[in-house]
Amino acid sequence: MDWEDLKPPWPYRKTPRPHSFEWYGQRLDRIQFTENPLTTSMNRFLPAAIAALVALLLAPTSSLLAKDATKTRHIALIAGRPSHPSGMHEFRAGCLLFQKALAGVPNLEVQVYSNGWPTKVEGGKTVDDNAALERVDALLIYADGGGGHPAIKPERMAFIDRLSSRGAGLGFAHYGVEVPAGDPGDAMIRWIGGHYEHQYSINPMWSPKFTTFPNHPVSRGVKPFSTRDEWYVNMRWSENGRPVTWLLEDAPSDAVRKGPYVYPPGPYAHIVAASGRREAMMWVHERIDGGRGMGFTGGHTHKNWGDPNQRKIFLNALLWLAQMEVPAGGVESSITEADLAGNLDPKK
Ligand SMILES: [Zn+2]
Repeated sequence: MDWEDLKPPWPYRKTPRPHSFEWYGQRLDRIQFTENPLTTSMNRFLPAAIAALVALLLAPTSSLLAKDATKTRHIALIAGRPSHPSGMHEFRAGCLLFQKALAGVPNLEVQVYSNGWPTKVEGGKTVDDNAALERVDALLIYADGGGGHPAIKPERMAFIDRLSSRGAGLGFAHYGVEVPAGDPGDAMIRWIGGHYEHQYSINPMWSPKFTTFPNHPVSRGVKPFSTRDEWYVNMRWSENGRPVTWLLEDAPSDAVRKGPYVYPPGPYAHIVAASGRREAMMWVHERIDGGRGMGFTGGHTHKNWGDPNQRKIFLNALLWLAQMEVPAGGVESSITEADLAGNLDPKK
């Protein structure tokens, strides 16, 4: 048969295209039975030569990948202003704990910004200082939310949208998952897939039991645990089913559903009517722009960060948000009583 008689497209021909890998394979099969030692050795040499060539071609790519893996990632933690009695809503102390716990992670820099969104004084006026946030791989806001949420000024929402569109991870914790319905609520749905909505969601003080976890990098190494905290329930999710993965979930008892809630005390009929339903208290969301989002509703009570599993799943999430590899056993960290007592905001 003359190779020139064969017409493309080659992939649909049974006969391999000349000099293709299959073609070389057939020739090698045939050559195994030849008696010519020179030809045989040459053809035995061929696969090794091809392998060497492939390795050579791949070499620059491998080194690029290796370089990317060692690239320093930046996580910014925005801690909200002091509020509540001591030991509660300790946003700054909490963020400093996370920073300390992640200090041993290679190729990671964690920056803590206290008192809300970073600002600077320019011409006698206080203005936003976004320069430091421009390069972040992940941004966490652990702060009081609602109408005073640090992220919901229109220019800041636009800034976070820009971070989001270039793939930065976005995380919100405790009161920081609550924003007003409307534009801020829509933004949270875009960024993390859901949010706390006033008088739709509730904030009871209770002790959910977290016993099973999905197979997800954020749950690596996390064992069952329970902490008594203001774990919020009944988030507002996307109406068009934007997918979220629940990391921490449980079914509140009817007593929890009937309240009283921390504020307002309730009870709400729609919460009581959902008796028996499981609820998400931590979730992650993979955005269509490739970025990642996370919501965590606990974090009211500072000492609960002393629970190694609550701390681990949260630290895992911070690495995951920054597109870093979460260790097989999760982030290992040790926090002492002294660590937990340190950096508390001065409060009455
Ligand atoms: Zn709270």
